[in-house]
Amino acid sequence: MTNITVVGAGIMGRGIAYTAAISGYNVRLQDISSNSLQAAARDLQNMAQRSTERHFITLEQQQLVQNIAYTDSLEQAVLNSDLVIEAVVERMDVKSQIFNELDQLCDAHTILATNTSALSPTEIGAQTKRPDKVIAMHFFNPVHKMKLIEIIRGLDTSDETVRIVQDVARRMGKESVEVNEFPGFVTSRMNVLIGNEAMNMLMEGVASAEDIDRALKLGLNHPMGPFEMGDLVGLDTRLRTLEYLHKTLGEKYRPSPLLVKYVKAGRLGRKTGRGVYTYEEDEQHANS
Ligand code: NAD
Repeated sequence: MTNITVVGAGIMGRGIAYTAAISGYNVRLQDISSNSLQAAARDLQNMAQRSTERHFITLEQQQLVQNIAYTDSLEQAVLNSDLVIEAVVERMDVKSQIFNELDQLCDAHTILATNTSALSPTEIGAQTKRPDKVIAMHFFNPVHKMKLIEIIRGLDTSDETVRIVQDVARRMGKESVEVNEFPGFVTSRMNVLIGNEAMNMLMEGVASAEDIDRALKLGLNHPMGPFEMGDLVGLDTRLRTLEYLHKTLGEKYRPSPLLVKYVKAGRLGRKTGRGVYTYEEDEQHANS
């Protein structure tokens, strides 16, 4: 396992590419948007530079980040790839299309992983002729700091595939948990409920956003407040997960009308400079 391709150069794709590179993998990062690719290259160089100055990574690791290849061609991106990790928008139609293409473009041995927050790896695997090599690797944001990867096998995922991605997780310095397939797995299912309830409280005027965040941090010992977390994740991504869980698990996941309103207004969180809170340019990049 030496070559990793990351598909999608947004918040998560950047974090996964960075973490894979400093763990010694050869990394290619693909996106259909040249803006995303340019921003990713800039972000990752800056992050590697700062992390080297602070002695979080070595000069050699900084060089490995500089070696990441960026491309908008999926065909070039997956050449000789051993593992592809998909991190594009949380939509089944988009992910299905990509896995169908990946199946045709990749070598027979290549494992195809999705970083979905909630969707079914079985359904994604069914778009391919290699469902035994399709699996979900659910990373957390910011990837280089967060210790966990949730590993979710689809109905036909092989033990060998699970073992290989567990090894990759270990080499990236992560702990993994194996979760049975169910919408939202463990973490997203729990986390969106807290975030959604906080939105409803804000809408009802129970307290200010700052005080709701402070209450959960100081009273319940959460490391981040639910609005800080929602703005970091992206409110659009959060809304898509809730919509899916509402459809599959029922009423308690109905998205808060206030969350829907923020997304309609384009207030998506740090990545757009404004979500529940407002961010300066240098605060926008989750991975900094
Ligand atoms: P994002 O909006 O920051 O980035 C998505 C990227 O995918 C964009 O750069 C976009 O141009 C690209 N893209 C869209 N269609 C594409 C295609 N057909 N081919 C290649 N690239 C394409 O999203 P994100 O927050 O990085 O989320 C990505 C995935 O990770 C989603 O499935 C999300 O649910 C999951 N996830 C997100 C978080 C989080 O905290 N944001 C955490 C865990 C998992």
